[in-house]
Amino acid sequence: MSTLHEVLGTSELVRRAHAFAKSAHEGQLRKSGDPYFVHCVGVAESVALWNLDEESIAAALLHDVVEDTKYTREDVEQEFGKGVAFLVEGLTKLEKVQYRGIESEAESLRKMLLAMVEDPRVIIIKLADRYHNMRTVQHLSLERQKTFAKESIDIFAPIAYRLGMNELKGEIEDISFPYAYPEEHEWLIATFKSLYEERKNYLRRVTTILKNECTSSGVTVLEVQKRAKHHYSLYKKLLKYSMNQDKIYDLVALRIIVPQVGDCYAALGALHKLWKPLPGRIKDYIAMPKVNGYQSLHTTVFCLDNRIVEFQIRTPEMHALAENGVAAHWLYKEHTAQSDSVSAAKARFGESERQWMERLRNWQEHFSASQDFLDSLKNDVLSDQIYVFTPKGDVIELPEGSTPLDFAYKIHSEVGNMYAGAKVDGRIVSLDYVLKTGEIVEVLTQKNKKPSHDWLHAVHTSFARKKVRHELNMRDQKERVISFRALELIVTVENRVGMLRDTTAILSAHDCDIQKVTSGVTSDKFATISFLCNFRGRGIPSALIIALKKIRGVREVEYKTGS
Ligand code: MN
Repeated sequence: MSTLHEVLGTSELVRRAHAFAKSAHEGQLRKSGDPYFVHCVGVAESVALWNLDEESIAAALLHDVVEDTKYTREDVEQEFGKGVAFLVEGLTKLEKVQYRGIESEAESLRKMLLAMVEDPRVIIIKLADRYHNMRTVQHLSLERQKTFAKESIDIFAPIAYRLGMNELKGEIEDISFPYAYPEEHEWLIATFKSLYEERKNYLRRVTTILKNECTSSGVTVLEVQKRAKHHYSLYKKLLKYSMNQDKIYDLVALRIIVPQVGDCYAALGALHKLWKPLPGRIKDYIAMPKVNGYQSLHTTVFCLDNRIVEFQIRTPEMHALAENGVAAHWLYKEHTAQSDSVSAAKARFGESERQWMERLRNWQEHFSASQDFLDSLKNDVLSDQIYVFTPKGDVIELPEGSTPLDFAYKIHSEVGNMYAGAKVDGRIVSLDYVLKTGEIVEVLTQKNKKPSHDWLHAVHTSFARKKVRHELNMRDQKERVISFRALELIVTVENRVGMLRDTTAILSAHDCDIQKVTSGVTSDKFATISFLCNFRGRGIPSALIIALKKIRGVREVEYKTGS
């Protein structure tokens, strides 16, 4: 880890950026009354602490220069080169004249996300920017505070999470929580303050016993940390468990840091020797890392005084990755021989982050309207996810609350459109079944199946809803073009068994919706059958009349069409 102060000592580029930004923002003040430049330094400080390269730190210092001062992107490029200019450009909001309100916000966000796919450093600097802005949010109006805080929780915290920056995610959420949901925050603090304290004291006793056991079983432990659960994440967990605080075992959890992977399992053994684990709560994220690359052993045990405690066991590398994610790659991956800084930056991303950004790029193309884009970003892309399997074992990621129909549309639009039902873990489920992580989903399709209006209620994702709506609109349009007309037919036939069946079959085959059938006997040999139908199509129904006349025993067909 390095501080901005240290980098200023070693990097000429950062020194120049520092001086340039300082003079460019000269005279500008923040809402707090501080010089504007304080903000630039605040952002650069985080970026330096996360070990990003000198281009990123320079860009952090310059990130508001194009948006808020007389200097242009070209000026930045001339002074600091293409790399820095690209980063600054990615962080500059779109011109307000072009877009208004929600549009400007959504399109600026879209632009930033696309820049992020090109160069991942953009989003990390943006996160530092948001983090600093949230720390000084109290100077804005109440309404702006709330909007800003909610946006931080809905959009920026999940992005940090996706990049594995869990510590930052927790911090962004916790600074935003009181502004976004003041009453809920106040209740939570009042309810849990003493519990947090009591829990910490209890865990102090647990730690001593644990350390002794590890020493006597020859397990090396570097550190045991008490980790209080972040407030917002506690609040979300409470919502999930109907506010039942007895279900929260990790209010304060213990984290055991050991030198090597092998020591993790040894420590787990020592721990289970002391206290019995709860069945089904041992998780080996070392052998099977989470999608964002997170690794650790988790276990929950019946601990001292028979109370339930959660433990996490990990190495320092796993710990750095768990706290700082992508940023930790800068620390732990060796400097590669990449010639330019962009590919070097990309190389430092894990496979899962790269795939996620790639998917993000493809996904956003489906949304042209700003509001749709924002809705889907919050609901589909950045919300809590579940992981289900195809029958072949491929993992499909969906937002929590998704149904088999969402799954079908995620596989392919056509699979969604032909959805006839689904099996989850081999059992047929209803249209509104809510999927859970780990389930195997098999979609049953039918060729001429079409989406219906009740599907709009059965889908959870904005993505699937958009597809269903599109199909329904297409069909409505077709139906308006080929409207129904009234058609009256009088068919004179020879009396024979099956005549009625044969004639109605022909009518159905020719898009006739029969409303009424009457038959009259004219003699022993002949009869008339009259049909009143809704007929789909234009002009004379000649094909229908010819087909009717071909039926054995049909003598004459008269018809009248309505307007
Ligand atoms: Mn800024």
